[in-house]
Amino acid sequence: MVRNRENQRIRMPGERPRNRRRPPFHDSVRPVRAMRRRRSYQRRGVNRRGCAFFVVSLLILIFAVGYFFFGDRFFSGDNLIAGDGEIIVSFLDVGQGDSIVIRSNTHAVLIDGGGRQTQSVVMNYLRDAGITRLDYVVATHPHSDHIGGLITVLGRMEVGTLLMPDVTHNTDTFRDFLMAIENNDVDVMFPVPGENIRAGIIDLLMVAPPENFYNDDDLNNHSIVLRMAHGQTSFLFTGDAEAASEQQMLLGGMNLSADVLKVGHHGSRTSTTEAFLQAVNPTYAVIQVGAGNQFGHPHSEVIDRLHIHGVTILRNDTHGTIRMITNGREIRAYD
Ligand SMILES: [Zn+2]
Repeated sequence: MVRNRENQRIRMPGERPRNRRRPPFHDSVRPVRAMRRRRSYQRRGVNRRGCAFFVVSLLILIFAVGYFFFGDRFFSGDNLIAGDGEIIVSFLDVGQGDSIVIRSNTHAVLIDGGGRQTQSVVMNYLRDAGITRLDYVVATHPHSDHIGGLITVLGRMEVGTLLMPDVTHNTDTFRDFLMAIENNDVDVMFPVPGENIRAGIIDLLMVAPPENFYNDDDLNNHSIVLRMAHGQTSFLFTGDAEAASEQQMLLGGMNLSADVLKVGHHGSRTSTTEAFLQAVNPTYAVIQVGAGNQFGHPHSEVIDRLHIHGVTILRNDTHGTIRMITNGREIRAYD
């Protein structure tokens, strides 16, 4: 064996190199890099698992606390689920306009749909509450702050019967509303005072307008007024009925008493007369009104009158959507 001065073996002429050529630089470092990469993956894996564990634990904790405080209601889209024999009445926050959803665990009725600009509020509420069919839709009267949002509802939801007064109105919104009725082949019914509409345990008595009232020029006074009695509890939904309609209702002699009064015409001084308020004698007054509306609703005279009668006032502009549950014995209110 021939060696040089550094005692390294010298290859003989014609001898094939014993060692293969050194691998290029990137080949030689690849295993190191791969190893590093694997390690960093492992590290990240630990972090991810820890993170997932933390998130899952947090969610379990939130649901446990939510269930502890709210029970089944915590898991519902709008926090409220109607138990057997319970009815939920929700006064939706549609700004300046009316929209009320009445639902049991099997049936639902919609009174008004607010204006067009807030139709998503109504549709989102119905979706979150899991409502796919409305037994009745009530268009109290043809003003746009009541029927605007109904145009979408008629187009997208299954509707049993539409209840509306037998009057017309010369606006684009009302024309579109009529087209929605026609295009979706919706059954229409005009109110018959003294008769009821029923959807399961939801029972609504038609209080106004009387059949002979259609010569009044003011569309507000054509508002369909409904009284819902459930066990010992009751609600009165008045649309935009004004003093003339209130007087007719008083003359009609029907039972107007209610624990909850949906205050007529957004708390305008045109409605909620002293005699009417005495007849209804409510515990709660709900005012469907938008903040800073151009009409100055609700008027201070009405607020004062309600205060004098010791009525608890709930307003959409200050409370947002207002929800009540009645089990036939008592009413609980949420906002
Ligand atoms: Zn109105």
